[in-house]
Amino acid sequence: MVVGLLGLQGAFLDHIRHLDALGIAHRIVRDPDGLQQVSRLIIPGGESTVMDKFLLEFGMMEPLRERIAGGMPTWGICAGAVLLAETVDGRPGSLRALPMSVIRNAYGRQLASRVRPIEVPILEALGRHGPFSGVFIRAPRISALGAGVVVHARSKADPVFVQRRRVMATTFHPELTSETVFHRYFIGL
Ligand code: GLN
Repeated sequence: MVVGLLGLQGAFLDHIRHLDALGIAHRIVRDPDGLQQVSRLIIPGGESTVMDKFLLEFGMMEPLRERIAGGMPTWGICAGAVLLAETVDGRPGSLRALPMSVIRNAYGRQLASRVRPIEVPILEALGRHGPFSGVFIRAPRISALGAGVVVHARSKADPVFVQRRRVMATTFHPELTSETVFHRYFIGL
């Protein structure tokens, strides 16, 4: 197994210590060839508009859609969750790999970064009981969910960790904490 870190922009390097701690091979993916070398992909937090632009410029949008449609396990974090969404701010999203609607920066731009305690019952199967530190940085709000999307965690009423089949999204950043159980969950998909 080789976990790809989409390395066009954003917080991809922050995942390396978690994957190293778990002994999982990884590689930074920046073009369609690199995508072929990995068996799963993390789409990091960052700026979704910039990543969207680079995905198109580097010819990765279509190959990535195809890989995800073909069953490649994929985890989008914050901006990565935005890229995976079917609908973003009422318009068609980039990868459209998760039937959900998101609203970018829905909690405000400057005042929107905070840590909230999050319960994630599904991680108890991996031996970790919450609460977890949910680090939110200009997070999107998941405003609607389509068929087959499972909600693993909420903050207040909003879904913040969702999954359909082998595609998962968190609107918070586990890679910015020392917690590795989210990465363990991801490599088990
Ligand atoms: N606000 C960013 C966006 O919409 C996401 C922020 C993040 O990934 N921490 O792309």
